[in-house]
Amino acid sequence: MIGRPVPPPLNAVQRIKKHATATTALTNSAVPRQVLALGIELEDGPLTKFHIERRFPGARDVVIDLEFCGLCHSDVHAGRGEWGAKELPLVPGHEMVGTVREVGGQVRDLDIGARVGVGCLVDSCRACEACREGLEQFCPNSVGTYGASDPNTGEYTQGGYSQQIVVNRDFVLNIPESLDPASAAPLLCAGITSYSPLRHHNVGPGSKVGVLGLGGLGHMAVKLAAAMGAHVTVFTRSEDKRESALGLGAETVVNSTDTAQLEAAADSLHLLIDTVAVPHELGTYLRTLKRDGALVQLSLPEGPMPGIDAGALIFKRLSYTGSLIGSIAETQEMLDFCAEHSITSDIELVDARSVNEAWDRMVAGDVKYRFVLDLATLGDPAKEDA
Ligand SMILES: [Zn+2]
Ligand SMILES: [Zn+2]
Repeated sequence: MIGRPVPPPLNAVQRIKKHATATTALTNSAVPRQVLALGIELEDGPLTKFHIERRFPGARDVVIDLEFCGLCHSDVHAGRGEWGAKELPLVPGHEMVGTVREVGGQVRDLDIGARVGVGCLVDSCRACEACREGLEQFCPNSVGTYGASDPNTGEYTQGGYSQQIVVNRDFVLNIPESLDPASAAPLLCAGITSYSPLRHHNVGPGSKVGVLGLGGLGHMAVKLAAAMGAHVTVFTRSEDKRESALGLGAETVVNSTDTAQLEAAADSLHLLIDTVAVPHELGTYLRTLKRDGALVQLSLPEGPMPGIDAGALIFKRLSYTGSLIGSIAETQEMLDFCAEHSITSDIELVDARSVNEAWDRMVAGDVKYRFVLDLATLGDPAKEDA
């Protein structure tokens, strides 16, 4: 039997029209609500402002009024089709912080007004091996915060460059009160992505950790590894990042364009965190690892990485490995660790009308170290795009 074709999700305009018809028959509280968002509506187009629908909250849902959302390099990769075509419109954003506006009937552990966050995942299957082990980031049916098929609505998920989001309680994080909400937002992706491999590789006092690249991910890796008690070495190609790296907590800075400095760093590290977002050779950096050391790939370059000389791995029993964000439980652990050690991201706050420029500056590496979108400016006629 041939299955009935599944109609594609409605685009934004169709949804708004459908909504306008539906509202006549339903009460206000029972229909999806329209919220303002910034996203990509047209192929190769810029971020523009439009309305999206958020679903009526179910029993386990939390409605969050969003205050801030970090701009992650992944948003650009997705928005510009660098990781493959995406359905449009696409509202990016997976580093969001806000306050609880409303909860479903079965949510009893969140107060209205509590400060909460949402990261890269908004749901998972709860039944697979990864989910049962509490590693839902590896669930084959996990639901990404944007651009994923949403099991609740049958449409595509839309992310945090918006005024409001509705998320299942199990994927809502508590943001400790002591953390500044704007600079805590990047912890939901950059923070946990850096934290998880440090924990997985048992970093602690006495560990020697290298960080390759000093951007959004790299600067968090430096702060977190230093707070765990590690000796941190930063590798950078620009000499003018030396002072900044030391200021973030690094003890050693290696200019990776200087052969003598690289030679001096040989066989010095237990773990190397690679955050460079473009394809690059690894042989130089594998030489800085001690026996049994590991190089962890955190960034996902759009092209393949150059090959690795097998001998570089064999003769020191090295590992070349990867890491993907972190589980929800580990994300909460990271947030609590950050509160304990007063760690947040170094940010530059941008308003809605500057978001396209901020994306270009992020791609150019011109930010220290993370842009955060001030979502209060999204509905403010004085501060938003004309
Ligand atoms: Zn991200
Ligand atoms: Zn699962």
